[in-house]
Amino acid sequence: MTVKHRAAIDTLVAYKPGRAPAAGRPKVKLSSNEMPFGPLPSVLDAIARAATTLNRYPDFHRLDLTEALAARHGVDPSQVVVDNGSGALLQVLASVIAGPGDEILYAWRAFESYPIVTTVAGATGVTVPLDGRHTHDLPAMAAAATDRTRMVVVCNPNNPTGTVVSRAELNRLLDALPDDVLVVLDEAYWDFVTDPDAPCGLDLVTERPNVAVLRTFSKAYGLAGLRVGYCVTRPETADLIRKSIVGFSVSTLAQAGALASLTPEADVELKQRVAHVVEERARLTGELVRMGVPAVPSQANFVFMPMPDGPARFTAFEERGVILRAYGTDGLRVTVGTAEENDRFLALAAELLRRS
Ligand code: PMP
Repeated sequence: MTVKHRAAIDTLVAYKPGRAPAAGRPKVKLSSNEMPFGPLPSVLDAIARAATTLNRYPDFHRLDLTEALAARHGVDPSQVVVDNGSGALLQVLASVIAGPGDEILYAWRAFESYPIVTTVAGATGVTVPLDGRHTHDLPAMAAAATDRTRMVVVCNPNNPTGTVVSRAELNRLLDALPDDVLVVLDEAYWDFVTDPDAPCGLDLVTERPNVAVLRTFSKAYGLAGLRVGYCVTRPETADLIRKSIVGFSVSTLAQAGALASLTPEADVELKQRVAHVVEERARLTGELVRMGVPAVPSQANFVFMPMPDGPARFTAFEERGVILRAYGTDGLRVTVGTAEENDRFLALAAELLRRS
C-alpha cells in the first residue's frame, strides 16, 4: 500500500546513480562530474577542527560563509543564500516561484533535476530542444515563454553537453522576458569556462532584476560529498529563498570546509587543479575527435559524445572497469579525470568507440 500522495509524483522515475565504487575496487569513476582529487589538506584540517563542536547546531544563517562568498563576488551578503547543494536551492526556487498552473521553461537535454523539481513544485515543465550544436536554443526558448511562465532555467555550461550560450543571445532572451519572470542561470561548472564570450551570471545579477545564479562547491572546489551550494541574486529574491529553506541544512563541517576553500592559498591550489582539468579536457576531446568519435567541444569538466547506442557502449565500458554516464539514445558523457584515468578511458575508447 502507498500512502495518499500527489499524483504528479508517480510520473517521476527514481534516480539510480549506482553505488560509489568501494575502496580498493579497480573502477575508474567518470560518471558524476566530480573532481578526481581529494580535498585540500587545509580544508580537511578546518573540517576536523569544526568537528569538535558537533554537539552544537551549526550557524543557522551561515554568516561567515555567506560574507566570504559575498566578498569574493563583490556583492552584498543580502544577495547570497547558502544551502546544502545547488540542487537543493533549485528545488526551493522552483517551489517558491511556481505552482500548479505555472510553467517552468528549460532546455532539453539539460540537468536531470529540472523536470523533477518542476514536478515536485506542482508546476508544468516546458522544454525546448537543444539546437544542432547541442547548445541552448535561446531564441526558441524566448518564443516558448507564455504568460504562465514563472521561471526559466539556463544551464551554462550545459550538463551534459558542456556547451555555453553567448552573451548577446542571453541578453536577447532577458530582453524578451518580462522583468518579473525569474531566470535561473545554473553555473555549477562556471569555473571551467575559458570562452571569453560566455556570459558570467554574476554580472547579470547586477544589471537585471530577475536573474538568480546558482554555484556549487561540488565541482571545481572538489567537495561534492560536503554538500554546499549557493545562490546569488537580488536581495528580494534571496529573502524569498531564505524564508523557505530548511533550518540548519548546512552542517558545521560543510560550512567550515567551504569557508576554508575560499582562502587565497586554497584559491591558488584549486585554480591549478582546474587548469589541469581544462588541459585534460582539450586532450580528451582532441583524441576522441582523432578517433572519429563525435565529441562536443566542452566548457565544463566533462565531454559529451552524441551517439544512438550509448547504453550498449556504457555497458561495454563498465565491464572493463570505467564508469561513464549514458543518456539513452542521445549519447554518452565522460567526466575529465586524472591524466591516468583519462589514459585508461582513451585506451578503451580506441577499442570500443573508434569510428575511423
Ligand atoms: N546543476 C548542475 C548543472 C549539475 O550538474 C549539478 C550536479 N550534477 C547540480 C546543479 C547540483 O549540484 P550540487 O547539488 O552538488 O551543488
